Amino acid sequence: MQTTQRRGALDRFRLIAALLVTAIHISPLAGIHPDGDFWLTRVLARVAVPFFLMTTGQFALKSAVSARKFLRKTLALYALAILLYLPLGVYGGRFRDLTLGGALRMLVFDGTFYHLWYFPACVTGALIALALLRLPSKAARFAAAGALYLAGLLGDSYWGVAQSVPALKSVYESLFQCFSYTRNGLFMAPLFLLLGREIGAADDLPRRKTCFLGAAIALTAMTAEAFLLRDHGFMRHDSMYLTLPALCACLFAGLWQIPMDPRPRLRAVSAWVYVLHPAVIVAVRALAKRTGLTGILVEDALVHYFAVCALSLLAGGLLSWRPPKPSKTGRAWIELDESALRHNADFLRSKLPKGCALMAVVKADAYGHGAAWAARTLRRSGVNAFCVATVAEGAALRRRGIRGEILILGYTHPDDFPALRFWRLTQAVVDADYARQLSAFGKKLRVHVALDTGMHRLGLDCRDEGRIAQVFQMKGLRIDGMFSHLCVSDADTPAGRAYTRAQAEALLRAADALEARGLQRPRMHLLASDGILNDPEYALDAVRAGVALYGALSDRTCAGLRPVLTLKARVASVRTLKPGQSAGYGLAFTAQRETRIAVITIGYADGVPRALSEGRGRVLLGGAEAPIAGRICMDQLLVDASGAGPVRSGDVATLIGTSGGRSLSVQDWARACGTISNEILSRLGARLPRIEKPMKK
Ligand SMILES: *Cc1c(COP(=O)(O)O)cnc(C)c1O
Repeated sequence: MQTTQRRGALDRFRLIAALLVTAIHISPLAGIHPDGDFWLTRVLARVAVPFFLMTTGQFALKSAVSARKFLRKTLALYALAILLYLPLGVYGGRFRDLTLGGALRMLVFDGTFYHLWYFPACVTGALIALALLRLPSKAARFAAAGALYLAGLLGDSYWGVAQSVPALKSVYESLFQCFSYTRNGLFMAPLFLLLGREIGAADDLPRRKTCFLGAAIALTAMTAEAFLLRDHGFMRHDSMYLTLPALCACLFAGLWQIPMDPRPRLRAVSAWVYVLHPAVIVAVRALAKRTGLTGILVEDALVHYFAVCALSLLAGGLLSWRPPKPSKTGRAWIELDESALRHNADFLRSKLPKGCALMAVVKADAYGHGAAWAARTLRRSGVNAFCVATVAEGAALRRRGIRGEILILGYTHPDDFPALRFWRLTQAVVDADYARQLSAFGKKLRVHVALDTGMHRLGLDCRDEGRIAQVFQMKGLRIDGMFSHLCVSDADTPAGRAYTRAQAEALLRAADALEARGLQRPRMHLLASDGILNDPEYALDAVRAGVALYGALSDRTCAGLRPVLTLKARVASVRTLKPGQSAGYGLAFTAQRETRIAVITIGYADGVPRALSEGRGRVLLGGAEAPIAGRICMDQLLVDASGAGPVRSGDVATLIGTSGGRSLSVQDWARACGTISNEILSRLGARLPRIEKPMKK
C-alpha cells in the first residue's frame, strides 16, 4: 500500500484531536458531570497533543530534508502565532515585569500564550529526536526517549512520587525555574515523535483490529491510572501518564492501517483550529457580552464549547482554502523510478575497483530527470560527489539541501566566484589563464584541475608539465583533484581504443611529473559512462557517471541498466478520417483507408523532437504501437490509433517506457532523429511535471 494513502485516517483524526484540545480549555461538561469532564478533558483529550507529535514525527523525521523543512515551517508558524496572541498576552498582563530569563523560558518552553508551548516543543523535540536517531539501535533510541518521558512523568502526574524524595524534589524545583511544566519538548515530545516515525516506517505492524483493541485496553488502564493519581493527590499537572504512550501508539498504528485518501486540507484546518481556538474563545465571550447572550453562549459550557468549535472550524476552513492546483497527471508528465536509479548506481559501482568513488553527473537537471530528486536519491545510496555544468545548477542543489562535493565541469565567469565560494562549489580549472583568475580571487576556492589529453575542449595541455606544476603551487587554490575527459570512449575500433589508452596514459604521466617535482599526486578521475563500461581499468580514484545512471546509454543499450524515466501523456480527443482526408499542419498526413486519429497532449515544446513527425516516432496506446501521424505541433501530436484497441479521451499514452508488455526507449527516439539519448533526455521540457515513484519495498 502506498504511504500517501495511509495518511487519510490520520488526517481525519487530527481534526478530532484539535477539538479535544479545545475541550481541555473549556471543560464543556464541568457543570453537568465533574468526573465526566475530568475524564473527557484530562484523560481522553490527553491523546491529542501526543497524536499531533506522532503525525509530525511520521513525516518530519523521514529524512534530513523533511526535518529541515518542518523546522523552518514550524518556526515560521510559531512566529506568526506569537504575533497573533501578542495583544491578548499584553492585555492579560503576561509580559509585565518580564526578565530576560523569563522571556527565554516563555519563548523556548512555555510558549508566549498558554497553548503555544506546542510549537517550541515540536522544535526542541525534533532536534532531540534527530540526535537520538544517530544512536546505533532502535532499542537505544527508545530507551533514551523513554527515560526522558519517565523523568517528565515525575514532574507531571507522578509529582507525588518526586515530592516524597527530598533530593528529587529539589532537582525538580530547580527544573521548574526553567519551565513551568515537564510536558515540553525536552521530556514529552521526543518519545512521541520517534514513535510516529517508527510506526510510519514499519511494515510488520500488528493487525488493525489488534491495534484498536490495544488502544481500548490502554484507555481503560489510563482511566484507572488518572483517577487513582487524582484521588491520591499525586498530580502537579495531568498531561502525561504511564499508559499514554501505549494508548497513542496503538491508536496511531490502527488509524495508519485504514486505507483512506489523504486529506491535506483537513491537516491544515486542524492546525488552524489548534492555533486559533483560544482567540475564538475570547471572541465568543466578547460577542456574547455585546449581544447580551452571555447566559447561554458562555455560562452554559457545553453551548460555549460548540460555539467555539464551530467558529474555529469556520475560521480554519477559510484560512486553509487554496485555489485548486492543476494536477500533475492531467496532461503530460514524467514518472521517475527511484529503485531503477539506485539499481543503476549499484550496477556501475560493481564495475569499479575498490576505493573508486562514483561521482554522479546531474547537469541539465539530471538529464531531464530533476537534479534535486536524483541527487537526494543517490545520496541515500551512498553517493557523495556530484557534477553539474553551471554555478546556478550547483547553487540550486545546495539550496535543496544537497551536501557533499559539487564539481562544476564548465566555465564560471569571475563575476560568479563569490557564489562559488558561498555555496562551497568546486570549480574545474579550464586553462592556465583561468587558474590565475581563480587564484587571484582573494579567498581560497576549491578546484579540480582539468587536463586536455586530446579532446581539445577544456583543460591545461597535459604535456605542459611546468605550467601544470605552477598551477598546483598557486596559493589561492585549494586543489582537490585533477581530471580529464575521453572523447572516443564509445568507439569500438582499434584506432578509437588506442586513442582512449593514449589519453589515459597522458593523464597518468602528468600525475607522475607532478610527483617527480615533489608535489602531491592529486585525486584523479577520467571516465564517464561509456568509459566505465568499456575501460574500467582506468577508473582511478573516481568516475563521473552521467547518462548510464539514468539507464540510457547515448546510442546503445546495456543489459545491466534500467531506464529511470517514463514519459506519458493523455489522449485529448479521438476522430476518424475517411480515405483521402488529411490531417495536421501542411496536411502532411493523408489517410489511405478509414483511419482513427488520437490527439495526444504533448508536443515539441515539451521536448518531443519534431524530427519524430510522420511516422518516425511511435507511442504506446490501447495495447499497441501507434505511429505519429503528420507533423508534431508545439503542444500536441496526432497518432494513427487504427491498430489499437478502444481509445477514449483521457486515456494515457506512453511515449517512453513500458506499457502492456511493449517498450519504447529513449534510444529508439535518438536513432530515429539521428542524435543521442543525452540530447533527447536533457531537452525534456520544464513544462512536464515529475512524479516520483517511491522504492518498492
Ligand atoms: C557530461 C559529462 C560527463 C558525463 O557524461 P556521460 O556520458 O553522460 O556519463 C562526464 N564528464 C564530463 C566532463 C562531462 O561534461
